Amino acid sequence: MERAIFPGTFDPVTLGHLDIVRRGRGVFDRILIAVARQREKQVLFTVEERVAMIEEATSDLSGVEVESFEGMLVDFARSRNARAVIRGLRVISDFEYEFQMALMNRRLDDQIDTVFLMPSERYIYLNSTLVREIARLGGPIEGFVPEGVVRRLKERFPGARR
Ligand code: ADP
Repeated sequence: MERAIFPGTFDPVTLGHLDIVRRGRGVFDRILIAVARQREKQVLFTVEERVAMIEEATSDLSGVEVESFEGMLVDFARSRNARAVIRGLRVISDFEYEFQMALMNRRLDDQIDTVFLMPSERYIYLNSTLVREIARLGGPIEGFVPEGVVRRLKERFPGARR
């Protein structure tokens, strides 16, 4: 069975991420969503919260697993028998960073290739940073993130004007 890893910070998971997961499932039998632990200091949600939100949002999808990881992505991918890394590509500005990462990961492990998937146009300008900012300012976040994430963001910013 071909398994692919979809790594990221997911702080928090958005409908754009979930769009990529669904598309990835169309190509691979199993998708392992790998939530990066090491950036915890700069994030809004703990890794446990980020994993829980993704689990909740993907509970209706078969062949999708969620795990947190630390350290080098290629090591984690190898340990989980994944030969492909999935990344979402939205706009040209994503390209340079993603290109470098993909080539560096391949340099580190030639067996692992990166596959880029493009989301639906409606998610092209969506990212977790913007969602956190809108939530902090009390703006509407419905339509950008799954229900469970809307709830948690509202809990996190209770004083925000709505
Ligand atoms: P990272 O910090 O590793 O970039 P993110 O959680 O921001 O982690 O993103 C994880 C992956 O999901 C990246 O490949 C990113 O390009 C992709 N992604 C993020 N938002 C979207 C979106 N709206 N549509 C498609 N892909 C997205």
